[in-house]
Amino acid sequence: MGRIIAIANQKGGVGKTTTAINLSACLAEKGKKVLSIDMDPQGNMTSGLGVSKDEVEKTVYDLIIGEAEIEDIICREVSENLDILPTNIDLSAAEIELIGIDDKEYIIKKEVEKIRDNYDFIIIDCPPSLSMLTINAMTTADSVLVPIQCEYYALEGLSQLIHTIELVQERLNPVLSIEGVVFTMYDARTNLSLQVVENVKDNLNQNIYKTIIPRNIRLAEAPSYGMPINQYDSKSAGAESYRLLADEVINK
Ligand code: ADP
Ligand code: MG
Repeated sequence: MGRIIAIANQKGGVGKTTTAINLSACLAEKGKKVLSIDMDPQGNMTSGLGVSKDEVEKTVYDLIIGEAEIEDIICREVSENLDILPTNIDLSAAEIELIGIDDKEYIIKKEVEKIRDNYDFIIIDCPPSLSMLTINAMTTADSVLVPIQCEYYALEGLSQLIHTIELVQERLNPVLSIEGVVFTMYDARTNLSLQVVENVKDNLNQNIYKTIIPRNIRLAEAPSYGMPINQYDSKSAGAESYRLLADEVINK
């Protein structure tokens, strides 16, 4: 039965999508069967994994409005061992569609349960909000992985996120846990990055991944080629770091 990990942080620009894309790709590279689910209407994970968001016929949105079966939406083997449930801007209307619907917190979960056994890992990229889309990701998931950008306001908003995760666990999904925190965009040339890491380690009572993702220009370039980092520049520092993170996730 596949392990389901939601990548969440309501702050934008902290490296959620970059982590979702490259963790998925590195798990697949290690022989794990992976499904990546894009729950952000921006669809950056979809395009970053090489699927054209304007050309896909059916998306997560069709799943939410009950117009399609999950099996019919999945784009299979976008690369070896990697399937994707794509999204585009259509999903931005989902919040409205969900108003007044029974069990609206569980729409995605019910669908994912049907195909869960086909995968070792299911990785969900969340939007930068604590919206109903993020709640759907959290009811579907076994755990939440939280990317934290190594910058001055790193801890801001984190207590709110942890509170949300605890509420979901209490009321909607008792098995949900916090997978851990991963530091992103670490800049070895500045003291600030180091200070942030030490400060978070001292103040946050959560599992923190040993792997720290460096600031690496290749990671920022790869999405415009529709490739994860292990395909775009297999020997880059970014690729090496996401491989190490994948090892840690597998061994946990
Ligand atoms: P989020 O999904 O949390 O909004 P993204 O993953 O889209 O964040 O990252 C925000 C921006 O930072 C993107 O332009 C991305 O390419 C860039 N980025 C993310 N991680 C790194 C990194 N480790 N090194 C360099 N650039 C990065
Ligand atoms: Mg994103």
